[in-house]
Amino acid sequence: MNRFTTIFWDVDDTLLDFAYSQRHALSECFRSIGRKMTEAELALYTRINDDYWKRLELGEVTKEQLLTGRFLLLFKKLGIEGVDVEGFRAGYQAGLGSTFSFLDDSLAICRSLRGRVRQYVITNGVTSTQRSKLKLSGLSEVMDGVFISEEIGSPKPQRQFFDHCLSHVEEKDKSRILIVGDSLTSDIKGGVQAGIPTCWYRRGAGTMDEVLGVGCRPDYEISDLHRIYDILGLPQ
Ligand SMILES: [Mg+2]
Repeated sequence: MNRFTTIFWDVDDTLLDFAYSQRHALSECFRSIGRKMTEAELALYTRINDDYWKRLELGEVTKEQLLTGRFLLLFKKLGIEGVDVEGFRAGYQAGLGSTFSFLDDSLAICRSLRGRVRQYVITNGVTSTQRSKLKLSGLSEVMDGVFISEEIGSPKPQRQFFDHCLSHVEEKDKSRILIVGDSLTSDIKGGVQAGIPTCWYRRGAGTMDEVLGVGCRPDYEISDLHRIYDILGLPQ
């Protein structure tokens, strides 16, 4: 008998390439205000955005503060004035929801697992953006369910988020559920705190020192999503 019956998939930077969508959406928004986005501006935005998401995970800011605040800070640092920040924000979310790129043939992997394990999305993204991206990418039709923090009312890694997910899935033995995600601070930490096995999808430069820094050790570590078959004990 296979140990795992159920997978909780993170979306951004696990199933879908978030950097790709972000670059496309932001550059379109810059064009809408008559600017050509530079690499330095994209890097600055990425730093500001990452910082806001970390603060959201820590409960220091609300989602609303994050969604607008990151652009207000970006405009301030770049000396951009007179921009309708709410319009910019709406355009950005629409852009994020309409462009996507798969990581490691993730759609084919999820599709091949359909009927062999139950699969759910667990994401901290904005509801309208995530729903749009999951539908357009075809991922929503291979999933058994979608859990979005905005709908649940608390984000990963908070216990309430995972308790909600656990109470809405068929598998009642959480040791038979596997969380797969790239974020040590939301996916892995959240899983460890909720007592759900975790698989860290390590992309790029992450090291075990980071894991120890977060204080949570994942049960598995992969750098290619195809390795999920080995963990599940299933043929490709
Ligand atoms: Mg992620």
